[in-house]
Amino acid sequence: MKRIKYTEDLQRQCAEWRAKGLKVGLVPTMGYFHDGHLALMDHARSMCDKLVVTLFVNPTQFGPNEDLDAYPHDIERDSQLAWDHGADLLFAPAPEAMYAPDHATWVEVPELAQNLCGASRPTHFRGVCTVVMKLFMLTLPHVAVFGQKDWQQLAILKRMVRDLNIPVDIQGHPIVREKDGLALSSRNAYLTPEEREHAPFIRKALLEARRLAQQGETDALVIKDFIRQRLGQTMPMAEPDYIEMVDPNSIQPIMAVADSALIAVAVRLGKARLIDNILIKVD
Ligand code: AMP
Repeated sequence: MKRIKYTEDLQRQCAEWRAKGLKVGLVPTMGYFHDGHLALMDHARSMCDKLVVTLFVNPTQFGPNEDLDAYPHDIERDSQLAWDHGADLLFAPAPEAMYAPDHATWVEVPELAQNLCGASRPTHFRGVCTVVMKLFMLTLPHVAVFGQKDWQQLAILKRMVRDLNIPVDIQGHPIVREKDGLALSSRNAYLTPEEREHAPFIRKALLEARRLAQQGETDALVIKDFIRQRLGQTMPMAEPDYIEMVDPNSIQPIMAVADSALIAVAVRLGKARLIDNILIKVD
């Protein structure tokens, strides 16, 4: 595996592979790998000849008071893990290699970015779309894999690719969890032992809410209220940022469960902001 940091090297190598008719897969990440990232790599690896993993803590997707400077990192460990999981290239650029000082071009999908994480992080998805678009242009991948943990991000990127006719197959990968149900996240490293003990209650509340819906409760307000109450009982130190029910594709709020619905939550727990979601399908 090669570790590179310049855009020109990434572009040259990927163009060479493409010219040889090789299928290129891309897994964009911000590093500090856990089993969720590694599952994405394994999935991409199984579908392509050459696997590119990118590790870039993208400054444009962080707001002014967010954790850009504190974001956990360990590039040596990450390199070893990417190598172990079949990466052919690890692209780990400095911010200056990705953004010119007078960078002025942005990609946005505003309709899908208004709710959920976009409501409290108004420039987040613009940063995500722009950096992913740049990574697509540098790599020209046949397939790119993203996690369903960031469901809204996945929906936005799918829409971006469709609307702009980008020839890449976007694949969503199911959420990888700890045994106790907590969705893996690099930000779980911020949790104190006590917070870590409480964190799985997010998943438990979502599972209970799905059961409620499957038993016939369709009213979004009732289901959201139920989750709020359960979180209040089981993790009183947590502050919900949002508890929402949306259409899984358009990310627009829905008032009642129809064929399918996505319940998504974000919870502040100490220094961490944890997100999770669950898809409800009703026959
Ligand atoms: P990040 O490094 O947090 O930006 O995540 C990089 C990619 O890994 C994104 O596509 C995430 O959705 C995905 N990802 C992060 N955590 C998980 C998880 N627990 N399960 C599945 N995918 C994940």
